[in-house]
Amino acid sequence: MAKKITLAQGAGGELMDQLIKENILRFFKNQGTAEVPLTALDDAAVVDDIVFSTDSHTVQPLIFPGGDIGSLAVCGTINDVSVVGGTPLALSAGFIIEEGFSLETFEAIVRSMGRMAKKANVPIVTGDTKVVEKGALQQFMINTSGIGRRSPALEKNIKEVKRHRKFRSRWLLDSNLESGDVLILSGNIGEHGIALLSFREGYGFETMIHSDIAPLNGLMSMVLAEGGVVSAKDPTRGGLANTVNEFSEKSQMGILLNEDTIPIPKGVQSACDMLGIDPLEIGNEGKVVLGVVKEKADELLAVLKKHPLGKRAAIIGEATDKISGVALQTAVGGKRIVRKPLGDPIPRIC
Ligand code: MG
Repeated sequence: MAKKITLAQGAGGELMDQLIKENILRFFKNQGTAEVPLTALDDAAVVDDIVFSTDSHTVQPLIFPGGDIGSLAVCGTINDVSVVGGTPLALSAGFIIEEGFSLETFEAIVRSMGRMAKKANVPIVTGDTKVVEKGALQQFMINTSGIGRRSPALEKNIKEVKRHRKFRSRWLLDSNLESGDVLILSGNIGEHGIALLSFREGYGFETMIHSDIAPLNGLMSMVLAEGGVVSAKDPTRGGLANTVNEFSEKSQMGILLNEDTIPIPKGVQSACDMLGIDPLEIGNEGKVVLGVVKEKADELLAVLKKHPLGKRAAIIGEATDKISGVALQTAVGGKRIVRKPLGDPIPRIC
């Protein structure tokens, strides 16, 4: 039987990894000389010091507690440009609309995109609109791409890193971690996925849990101005579990997380307990995980806590050559392995 693409292959975990590596990358290899190439599989590429990223969004429902597909699309791309060390400059917006889609809803979403772009100070400057026949897709999808220039604070940040250890990269790549580096998470995990799932299925948690959608460009420039950051990644699809495994794989470094310190809101934990979902595997849309030199960890944590999006920031673990892969030191004193999620515990949330 001919092989077909499954939903799980788009879920941001191990299976999507395979699809990208085996069915996409090999046809796009060795094209040009990007400083951060496609094969790095990082949040964004870098070509001629221009940071470049793209993301397509397919969410059900389109409007949910804490946001909508429009604000999500704007923030997702701003964040991917920001976490490699770019200052986002401009976005594109590509709409694919199913025939019969409500004009009122369409306008509400586009208005929300405009509002979020203005708030983040990153204009939408080009775009494309396509309408497809009924049944060709479920309502509506958005693709956003973004470009950014090298953050003015990045040189100072790297200088600060080099005061404490050797550092060769010019960007904040997943592959930059070394043993001893500390991991800081900017705030609560699990809110986006649980808000969406709960609203969609009517579980009731959505009254206390809203999506965390937020643009991280402001927070990232504050953090870089303090200095000492070696890696950064937004824990979107696949959640924190996927993000730390990406760090671990690409840096060839073990990561030990401390369960006690990972900020998980009560409502998220209750929902996860009820549904049998691991909060570490749930997608977030306004959080960043930073790898930092240990000498700067406390200062950087203090800087994060001053920012409205970093109030619940916490040191959650460290990179170590004493283990391989990712392990979680549990609250009761044991250790468990944290694997890359195979598929997505909550589909269609980003
Ligand atoms: Mg990302």
